[in-house]
Amino acid sequence: MEDSKHNANDALNKKDKRRYQIQSRLSKMTLAFSTERDNYYRSMLHDLQNTLSTMHSGTNEVFLESLRDFEETRDYEMTRLRLWEEYQVQCVEREFHSDLVEAKTEHNQMVRLVKEKLQENLAKKIKALKEDKILLDMINSNTSSSSSQFMANSMTNLAFDRRSLRKRDIHPSHHLDTEEVSDSGYTSSLKRRRGGYGSGRDSGRDSRPNHNILGRGFMEAENGHATSNAYSSNDESGVNNGNGTDIDGYESLNNLIFGEKQREKPNTRHNAKPGDKITSLRPEDVDEDMEVLRAVANGVKKRETAPSLTPKRTRPPLYKSRRFWSCICVFTILYVYLHRFNLYPDVAGVNQSDLLGLPSSELKYYPVSRRVSKSHRDFPFKVGCSVPAVDEPRANAALVVLARNSELPDVIASMKSLERHFNQWFNYPWVFLNDEPFTEEFKEKVKAYTASDVEFGVIEPQHWDFPAGVDRQLIKESIEYQGDRGIKYGKLESYHKMCRFYSGWFFKHPLVAKRDWYWRVEPKVEFYCDITYDPFVEMEKRGKKYGFTVMIKELVDTIPNLFRYTQLFIRSHNVTVGETWGLFLRNHLHIHGDHAFTVETEEELRDEIDFETRLQKLLDKRHSMKDGMIDKNLLERLVKANASPSKLRRERFNAQEYNMCHFWLNFEIARTSLFNSTEYQAYFNFLENSGGFYAERWGDAPIHSLAVGMFLELDDVHYFRDIGYKHSTLGHCPANARGKQLPYEAAESYTAPKSLREYLFERPDPARLYGVGCRCRCPTNHREIEDSLSSCMNKWFELIDDNYTESVVDLAVVRRQHSVEVQDDIERHAGQIVYDGPWKKKK
Ligand code: GDP
Ligand code: MN
Repeated sequence: MEDSKHNANDALNKKDKRRYQIQSRLSKMTLAFSTERDNYYRSMLHDLQNTLSTMHSGTNEVFLESLRDFEETRDYEMTRLRLWEEYQVQCVEREFHSDLVEAKTEHNQMVRLVKEKLQENLAKKIKALKEDKILLDMINSNTSSSSSQFMANSMTNLAFDRRSLRKRDIHPSHHLDTEEVSDSGYTSSLKRRRGGYGSGRDSGRDSRPNHNILGRGFMEAENGHATSNAYSSNDESGVNNGNGTDIDGYESLNNLIFGEKQREKPNTRHNAKPGDKITSLRPEDVDEDMEVLRAVANGVKKRETAPSLTPKRTRPPLYKSRRFWSCICVFTILYVYLHRFNLYPDVAGVNQSDLLGLPSSELKYYPVSRRVSKSHRDFPFKVGCSVPAVDEPRANAALVVLARNSELPDVIASMKSLERHFNQWFNYPWVFLNDEPFTEEFKEKVKAYTASDVEFGVIEPQHWDFPAGVDRQLIKESIEYQGDRGIKYGKLESYHKMCRFYSGWFFKHPLVAKRDWYWRVEPKVEFYCDITYDPFVEMEKRGKKYGFTVMIKELVDTIPNLFRYTQLFIRSHNVTVGETWGLFLRNHLHIHGDHAFTVETEEELRDEIDFETRLQKLLDKRHSMKDGMIDKNLLERLVKANASPSKLRRERFNAQEYNMCHFWLNFEIARTSLFNSTEYQAYFNFLENSGGFYAERWGDAPIHSLAVGMFLELDDVHYFRDIGYKHSTLGHCPANARGKQLPYEAAESYTAPKSLREYLFERPDPARLYGVGCRCRCPTNHREIEDSLSSCMNKWFELIDDNYTESVVDLAVVRRQHSVEVQDDIERHAGQIVYDGPWKKKK
């Protein structure tokens, strides 16, 4: 019992002991924990205090590091901004410099022109004064015998310029007075002179676009015969040409420069009646004239302001005047500004048909290029830009270039331009043709400028040379003769061959014949707008067969007999021509009946009939007539009709006259089958047999064009008005379509380095209401071919107009009616045949 009790106590003690142990261990742990905790927080506090103090003193590492990071980012951004700014400034500077250079050259040109004109005017005045002096002397020499002797001399010396005499007739007391000069003889002599250059008909008319003579003038200007085309349109203001009106122009320039004050005094000499007889001059008049003569002869410019002997003012030479130069500057700036920003009024919405009735004087305010032609028959496929459909299927077509090895740089120029503006998205293959093999250098270099396939072909000798059956000596002599006559390219045998090849064999070359379409490209052409759609596919879709971008007039001398042979072909092959043929005919008035005149208006036709009828009456009566009975007007008209090369002498076939219009063939998009057709080949063979490819210098352009006129419907032809294009010095550049522009995005495969031109094309011209182009950039000095006198676009727009109707006149009916009128008229004049001028005046 005791034992068990003892054991129980023992066990209790053990338990207590253990409890105590655990307790002490626990308290130790608690103690350790609290000290550790205290230490931890103390050190943390310490750290924080430390950070705080370093922060306060500005030596905190972390803070400094993030500060450095931020500063670095800031500097980086600042540098970037700075560089961007510099870049912008550079761009602006570059733009400014190029503008400056352009303005300078324009300014210099203007100064030179004005100087030339002033000198010219001065020389003319001196000449006129000298003539006057001779006449003065002549009149003053009083005795009739000596005066007639003198007159004979002076006539031979001066080739007897009638104007001086006539002027003297009207104004007995003559002084240096420009108004008087223009009032009297000068203008009329100018008209006479002009009449001499062109046909009688041409001279009296204003300058309508279909004008042949003027058109030729333009073509000549292209060859560098005229000084500057840019100013020739100012004819009417008269600053330019040497005639009466010019003196007015010169006057107004002077008025502008020197002010009007000095010429306010009334000019009493104008009171002389036109019918006054020649009287001898008063001594003071002679003195005055001599004074002026001397002054001009000494090169001192003095101006007479009044007829009386008022004190005269001397003036320093024009070019020393500050006002003169400031005027030049203002003109130059205005000129550059107008050209650059195109500040003419928009005339969108003006349809061709609305303008047809307008006189040509008003038409000039609506240049063709600013007219909207909304015809259902033909209109640009796409107005403005589209996103190029790079993955769409392509047509079976190629870009074809005929070139010589020596033309490599020009070929590259054309390729660069067409690749940049069109082919980078569409990748049509290039085909190069030559009459001799291309060099390796040519082939390698050309390939570097396109990502598309390139093919090279040599032309078979029999397709290039003239046919074997023709006498070589004859060919040689014909070509030499054309050279002697100064016919453009007439003396170049290679050029004749080229024209013949393009006319008959081009489409038969295997590399062209295997395609449905071709786009003819020439060396050194330039494109001004982006072509963001596929022209071949669009043409195919709309059933078009022939596309052009420029239509102008051909040089007459190169194709004197082409139209005759074409007419012969029409007759012998029973070709029925349609509407398109009208594109190439001079007369709008379609006249039925034999021996029709080539006239443009019904009035003109009546005039011709009137004259013809009276002439016939006269001839009928000639045996019963006495001397001096022929009406003076009729006689005059007879003489004129005999002398003038117009109307009666013009080349007409089947009562039709060729207006010389042709599509400009250096750009041509066409269906190969059009020219490989049997009808076209028959036409070519017919022409080939006539010998015109060497006997004359028939161009491929009028031949293709006349063929289009014969074989195609008007709806088959397309005018690519939206394609900006230049070859040699002429070109077409449309305005950009308003609201239809998209930013330029190069195709992925396009890797051409950025040129300076690219910089320009990134800044396209402003968009216009009448615009149709996509991202076009026209050169500052661009002269639009659509508005030129040698352009045929007016005719094109007229024909495709939805409201166009052909005016048809039956000659027999008009003749019958008019004969009755003439008979009545003769009876009214008691049987005498009188003719008082053109028919319209008698109404
Ligand atoms: P223009 O445009 O009427 O002044 O005449 P070009 O001299 O430009 O000639 C028209 C085209 O025919 C160009 O593509 C020329 O490269 C080409 N051409 C002219 N003569 C020859 C020639 O003798 N050989 C070859 N291969 N091409 C020629
Ligand atoms: Mn050319």
